[in-house]
Amino acid sequence: MILKEVSWLDIKPAITEDAVAVIPVGSTEQHGPQNPLGTDHMIAERLAAGVREEAIITPTVPVGYSEHHRQFPGTLWVSPHVLQEYVLGICQSLQYHGIRKILIVNGHGGNTFPLLRAAMKMREQGVFVGLHEWWKACKEEDAHAGSGETSLNLFLYEHLVHMDRAKDNTAGWSPPLHGTIIWYDTIDFSDDGTVGSPTRATRGKGEVLYRDAVNQLKQTIAYMKETPLKDLLCKERVM
Ligand SMILES: [Zn+2]
Repeated sequence: MILKEVSWLDIKPAITEDAVAVIPVGSTEQHGPQNPLGTDHMIAERLAAGVREEAIITPTVPVGYSEHHRQFPGTLWVSPHVLQEYVLGICQSLQYHGIRKILIVNGHGGNTFPLLRAAMKMREQGVFVGLHEWWKACKEEDAHAGSGETSLNLFLYEHLVHMDRAKDNTAGWSPPLHGTIIWYDTIDFSDDGTVGSPTRATRGKGEVLYRDAVNQLKQTIAYMKETPLKDLLCKERVM
């Protein structure tokens, strides 16, 4: 069920003890010259829509923590704290309505830590929150504007992709220096914002990635529904 498309009268019967709500979260940030700025939240939104029969899908959070892409025009960001508190607020309003099981579908690696913090805070308050990331589900290594994301866009939003502009860039994120991580901005090692090999992207690969990720989301939701809430929550203080 897509929450924004139904009335309050229609959502009420869907809120049962084991109902699962899905919150798609992404970013609006540069994804190389070949992909749209909305790549991360648009992919998260379509993944979430793939489980509309199994869960209550909330509206998508379109802006995340993307400051490291700021040198490229159009990139938007909020602080990690704001993202954490915003998503926490959505979770708390779902809790108010009786939902105790939530799955965040995240489309942007920079959001991971603030979202995990929100998940931890909710678990303390009696609501289980899981975090799903498609590139982990599909073991896709080529994450930022590379073959994985570009393929997904070719499958989901082909009219928005400019494959004639795609150029590979094999430099990696933050190469450690004697064990020290330097938090580079993307522009420090990629002139056009791409990290990976988008020239290897195909629509067919995108379809396989999409179906694999949706399948794994369905399995996660089934697990969350059949597991009693008390088994998903944290234990009490020892004494
Ligand atoms: Zn992305």
